[in-house]
Amino acid sequence: MPLMSGNLIRNLLGGPVTRPYPLVKRRPFPRTRARLLYDPARCTYCGICANICPANAIAMKEERDSLSIERIYDSFSCIYCARCAEFCPDSALQMDVVYLESADAKTLTSSSSR
Ligand code: SF4
Ligand code: SF4
Repeated sequence: MPLMSGNLIRNLLGGPVTRPYPLVKRRPFPRTRARLLYDPARCTYCGICANICPANAIAMKEERDSLSIERIYDSFSCIYCARCAEFCPDSALQMDVVYLESADAKTLTSSSSR
């Protein structure tokens, strides 16, 4: 009973243990994998990310007529393993610690070597 009273008093005097989300958000952990950032200016369209992606979230589309390569990323298939960011030889990919807002429609992002 004395132990319980201590806990009771501590809980009554202490503030809430939960955050009033979304007004107060927790700071992300340093190694959080929340969003894949891509810099097309650094990309050489080598295709390594597409080859090693375990979820097939990246595809390379080659247009032989126009001699261009398109890189397509499907964030809805991505499992945020960070493998592509680790192996990209040109540091065109990075994992960001900030989560995206939820989306109500599926979209693909693409960039082209043209
Ligand atoms: S993002 Fe990196 S690994 Fe992927 S195609 Fe571009 S340079 Fe190659
Ligand atoms: S983070 Fe993982 S699943 Fe997502 S695109 Fe990169 S390799 Fe594929």
